[in-house]
Amino acid sequence: MSVTHAPQTADVLARQDPELAEILLGELDRQASTLQLIAAENFCSPAVLAALGSPLANKYAEGYPGARHHGGCEIVDVAERLAVERATSLFGAEHANVQAHSGSSAVLAAYAALLRPGDTVLALGLPYGGHLTHGSPANFSGRWFDFVPYGVDAETGVIDHDQVRTLARTHRPKAIVCGSIAYPRHIDYAFFREVADEVGAYLIADAAHPIGLVAGGAAPSPVPYADIVCATTHKVLRGPRGGMILCGSELAERVDRAVFPFTQGGAQMHTIAAKAVAFGEAATPEFAAYTRQVVANARVLAAALAQEGCVVTTGGTDTHLVTADPAPLGVDGRTARGRLAAAGMVLDCCALPHADSRGLRLGTAAVTTQGMAEKEMTRIAALLAGVVRGTAESARAREEVRDLVDGFPPYPG
Ligand SMILES: *Cc1c(COP(=O)(O)O)cnc(C)c1O
Repeated sequence: MSVTHAPQTADVLARQDPELAEILLGELDRQASTLQLIAAENFCSPAVLAALGSPLANKYAEGYPGARHHGGCEIVDVAERLAVERATSLFGAEHANVQAHSGSSAVLAAYAALLRPGDTVLALGLPYGGHLTHGSPANFSGRWFDFVPYGVDAETGVIDHDQVRTLARTHRPKAIVCGSIAYPRHIDYAFFREVADEVGAYLIADAAHPIGLVAGGAAPSPVPYADIVCATTHKVLRGPRGGMILCGSELAERVDRAVFPFTQGGAQMHTIAAKAVAFGEAATPEFAAYTRQVVANARVLAAALAQEGCVVTTGGTDTHLVTADPAPLGVDGRTARGRLAAAGMVLDCCALPHADSRGLRLGTAAVTTQGMAEKEMTRIAALLAGVVRGTAESARAREEVRDLVDGFPPYPG
């Protein structure tokens, strides 16, 4: 809930459904009074929230602008065209589909556009940061396609390019997927393009995490290299919860049909409007500066965690993402996450390459939106290490976290 329309929303809900109003206010308080270090989360703007909470939520709009299966779409058509225009211009892509309901739906549609069930796909293995949609047996991808996983170098934690090339030559995949939920370094899209071309594979970049950095110029763009780019709009990009697909004109129709009618129904016009708002915000110099600060913060956080004794994967980061093994502090990732949660520091565990125990995954997108900078990152690392070691008393650490976040309200005013 944004503060600008929170009073009305709170009033309406408080009158009509006090039970739910209390839940919304409780969540707003949780977000503001604890430290949000989940790498996939951010605080979207009051303008994005306003679009999400608008009457566009009422509109049924199957199909695409100018070719809908429902009447009364003339206004929402303008909203979707605007979202598409802003996305293509922001990312320099020929085509954008803004209807994908989520990152996973975007990947499903990309596979539907390019593959047949049973096709071979090369992707980063799940233990190294591949997403569920990259071949997990618990996901449609692992059931319907034959995934061959590549990994990272055991020493450096960096993607093993030699292995990618060898596996591509051996398995001749129909598609190669590059992208990860936890990889802290830039991905060498030119390398993946070269390998894909060599073996006649499509290249799908799942840029759900770094797409916001790409928008702000703080990370290299997959758009010139990948046949299809899948993304989310709610991570560093700071838009509404949702997905997006970018591609060249030659695949535009296949991608659109893979989203609707193949894998989805009606478009969610309130979310599409909110995506348009977020693309507009992401095109500003302020957003570019934000993405640079996100990376600067992550670098300081990674260095400070290493200083505190954590083993930082790849020795640092190029992005908003840091993964670290807290084992030298005396506990594994799962125990560490529990202690940190009790102190009001919210983050995820993640698989660690070539380790049995789990590590910690942190991101700086949300705290940077709040206005935190290098100084706060050092403070966060020290707090985190104290809590994880068990040397900081939990109640006292909780107070310190509260003191820190009180200075950086996500929705001031
Ligand atoms: C977050 C993410 C997704 C999934 O996004 P959802 O919106 O949760 O479905 C897919 N792939 C990658 C690489 C991601 O980081």
